Amino acid sequence: MPMSKILPSKLTIIVPCYNEEANIKALLETLQKNLKPVAGWEIRYLLVNDGSRDSTWQIISQLAQESANILGLNLSRNFGKEAALLAGIEQAPLSDAYLTLDADLQDDPKIIAEMIKKLDTGYDIVYGQRSERKDSPLYIFLASGFYWLMDMATKGAIPKNVADFYIFNERVRLEFLKLQESVRFTRGLLFYTGFKKAPVMYTREKRVAGSTSWNYFKLFKFSLDGLTSFSTFPLHLISIIGFVGCAMSIFGVVIYVAYSVFSGVSGTNGWASIILLITFFGSLQITMLGIIAEYIARNTLEIKNRQKYIVMDRVNLD
Ligand code: UDP
Ligand code: MG
Repeated sequence: MPMSKILPSKLTIIVPCYNEEANIKALLETLQKNLKPVAGWEIRYLLVNDGSRDSTWQIISQLAQESANILGLNLSRNFGKEAALLAGIEQAPLSDAYLTLDADLQDDPKIIAEMIKKLDTGYDIVYGQRSERKDSPLYIFLASGFYWLMDMATKGAIPKNVADFYIFNERVRLEFLKLQESVRFTRGLLFYTGFKKAPVMYTREKRVAGSTSWNYFKLFKFSLDGLTSFSTFPLHLISIIGFVGCAMSIFGVVIYVAYSVFSGVSGTNGWASIILLITFFGSLQITMLGIIAEYIARNTLEIKNRQKYIVMDRVNLD
């Protein structure tokens, strides 16, 4: 993008909102305050209501009616954050750049100006990368495990410690929208496009108001979605474990037979160890069937190819 512009570049900031009535006004105020010094950009805010059960949509539609640069999109029910993000990215008016962030001010708006500047120097995606997490030790431990797995599975294609806080240009959006799979892992799909990317570091704050809609079960499912949509490595792992297990068993049998023949002892004690082994291998088999089932479940969803979100109302949007 040229540094001296005749017309301002257009930026659309996309925010998925689920039960965020306590955050929206504060978010817009903070964003507007932080983005004042960014010259040469015309900024619009697209707030996507993802079937909130509180007054989130009433607030959004009222704000949108009051100012032309606030755009409102109301989904017919709760489709989940990934679908809400897709809805925003797909329905956004044509812009030079798009930025996504959470409604709860966990993504530091102070770095947006820097992200825009970096994008202007010739990058296609600039993402906020957490330098520090203010979460519980268990959460941090599980999150690092997930990133480690993802990193291994995708050979480092998806940067670590990244939330849905990034800015990207129109060519990234076009390619992103061609990826029409149903089980969506937005940040993975964006980086999958392979365009030039760069980070801006920040500290992720605690949620300002309201409560997170995540729990450990949902996070587990989200991690599974991420992993299974970007890698078939767990399937290969099954074959590897099976093969190694077989080889070890054959080796064990040979040793046992040799021992019995040469020592003349073939004891019948060891009931506990046999039961333990049976239980162990039984669970191992069920786990592996489970991994296969995860992929089958995703295939079933993909084959149905349903629409990923349904729009009910729009304000200031064509
Ligand atoms: N969100 C959404 N749909 C959902 C759940 C969450 O649009 O079904 C939005 C939510 O309003 C917020 C963002 O996604 O803007 C992140 O959600 P949350 O803060 O609950 O997640 P966390 O920050 O704990 O990962
Ligand atoms: Mg949050």
